[in-house]
Amino acid sequence: MALGGERIGARAEKMNGVSGSVSVDRGRRSTRPARRADLSVRAEWERLSAEIQACRKCPLGDFRTQAVVYRGGLAPRVLFVGEAPGAEEDRLGLPFVGRSGRILDSGIASLGLSPKSFGVLNVLKCRPPGNRFDVRAARTCRPYLDRQLELLRPEVIVTLGARALCAVDPSAPPVLRAAGRPLRDGIPRLFPLVHPAAALRSRRLAKRWEHDLAALGRWLKKRSA
Ligand code: SF4
Repeated sequence: MALGGERIGARAEKMNGVSGSVSVDRGRRSTRPARRADLSVRAEWERLSAEIQACRKCPLGDFRTQAVVYRGGLAPRVLFVGEAPGAEEDRLGLPFVGRSGRILDSGIASLGLSPKSFGVLNVLKCRPPGNRFDVRAARTCRPYLDRQLELLRPEVIVTLGARALCAVDPSAPPVLRAAGRPLRDGIPRLFPLVHPAAALRSRRLAKRWEHDLAALGRWLKKRSA
C-alpha cells in the first residue's frame, strides 16, 4: 500500500456514513493547493463510493440490500477494518452498527478518538448469506479496500478479527497471537485486535478484547506524545 503520512482535509457531508468537517493539514503547503487536493480526494472518494454501491462483480451483489462502504472522517488517524457487513449493516448501509458495532463504539470512546479521527470499514462490502465469509468474494472485492486505504491514508490500521487481519497482512501470525500489539513498522502501522463480537461469545474473550483495547490506547497515546 502506497500510503503517505499527509493528512487529507475536506469538509465532508453525509455520504456513505462520512459526516462532519475534517481538518485540513497537508504539511506546510499553501491553503489553495491543499484545497484543490482535498477536493480531488473527496471527488475520488465519492466516485469510489458510487462504484461500490453499484458493484455486481461477485455473487454477493445479488444477495445484499445495499453495499456498505464506510463511516468516519475522511482523514482518520485510526482505521478499523472488519471482515463483512452483518444483517443490521446490510439494512442500514453502515459498517458496525449492530451488537458488535456497539461494543466497537464503546471501545473507540474509551480510546478518546474524536469522530473525525477514526474510520470504520469492512474487507467485504456486501453481506455474505448466512454471514459466512466468502474468500473468493474477498479477493474480488480487495481492490476497493486498497483504493479506500490510498484515499484515507490512516496512520494506523486496526484489524478486527482473524479474517480482517489475514486480508490486510496474509503473513501475520494467527489473531490470538498477534492481537494486542503493533505488528509491523512503516505507514500505516498495523495493530490487530480480536473481533468485538468475540466479547459476546465468552468471558475470556471479553477480557482479551478489553485488555488489547487498553494496550492499543496506551500505544496510541505514546505515539501522540
Ligand atoms: S462484495 Fe465487493 S466485489 Fe462483491 S458485489 Fe459487493 S462490492 Fe462488488
